[in-house]
Amino acid sequence: MDLGISGKKALVCASSKGLGRGCAEALAAEGVNLVMNARGAEALEVAAAEIVEKFGVSVETIACDVTTKEGQDALIATASDVDILVTNAGGPPPGVWSDWDRDDFIKALDANMLTPIALMTALVPQMIDKGWGRVVNITSQSVKAPIPALGLSNAARTGLTGYVAGTARQVAGKGVNINNLMPGIHATDRAVSLDTNLSKQQGISMEEAFEQRTKTIPAGRYGTSAEFGAMCAFMCSDHAGFMVGQNVLLDGGATNATI
Ligand code: NAP
Repeated sequence: MDLGISGKKALVCASSKGLGRGCAEALAAEGVNLVMNARGAEALEVAAAEIVEKFGVSVETIACDVTTKEGQDALIATASDVDILVTNAGGPPPGVWSDWDRDDFIKALDANMLTPIALMTALVPQMIDKGWGRVVNITSQSVKAPIPALGLSNAARTGLTGYVAGTARQVAGKGVNINNLMPGIHATDRAVSLDTNLSKQQGISMEEAFEQRTKTIPAGRYGTSAEFGAMCAFMCSDHAGFMVGQNVLLDGGATNATI
């Protein structure tokens, strides 16, 4: 299927590795030119060079922390004309409800709610002017079914989801579609860190932690960044113009719900 986005330009945040990288690659495969971002410049340059070589698109790189005002300003300056925005950042640390104080919540809200809102606020108006735009926010399965150890994530991402539900409907008539993509467990560095947390918490090996988490997934395995990227690319495509304010769950069936 031709996604109809060849020649468009996308900002993909937090994209040197993991799910962001999967989204960047899937968009590049469709001929989309990229602005890629991560904090670590070295891995970012390697990822960008690999994508340029494999797909022949142009890639600009901005090494910065997307959750800071300075980082957002740098991204907005380079990506001021993008057609597609994929928001992403690292997830908050796991813990127990009684561990978290106000500062922990402010940090999580900044990273996983206010950062995507700031980028949308800056970049959606020019999409509206052009009459075409797509935004995909990488959120989490935890919006649909809470993950108790990830209370900071549950809270911040649910706040973003509420914002998107209303905002997506305000801009839909202008050709701009905003939706969220909710990952369940995918095989990335983040999954390794959550396996590590479980293994420490329960005094079990990493292999046992991996097996325990795999058992929660009816598909019987962790998802891949490539699968995640393919769904993201479709949501950024010309075919997704009737998808407004939706939350698409990619979790191998882990969330046991009818709808
Ligand atoms: P990952 O494998 O840890 O990848 C993180 C990527 O984001 C790297 O390129 C990293 O590069 C970049 N990054 C992290 N923090 C950043 C920041 N503040 N500014 C700019 N770039 C940043 O994570 P992932 O698994 O792809 O997860 C992506 C998002 O989905 C996270 O919010 C995670 O919580 C959420 N999620 C993941 C899963 C899963 O199973 N993988 C499940 C549910 C939700 P640098 O470190 O160099 O900055």
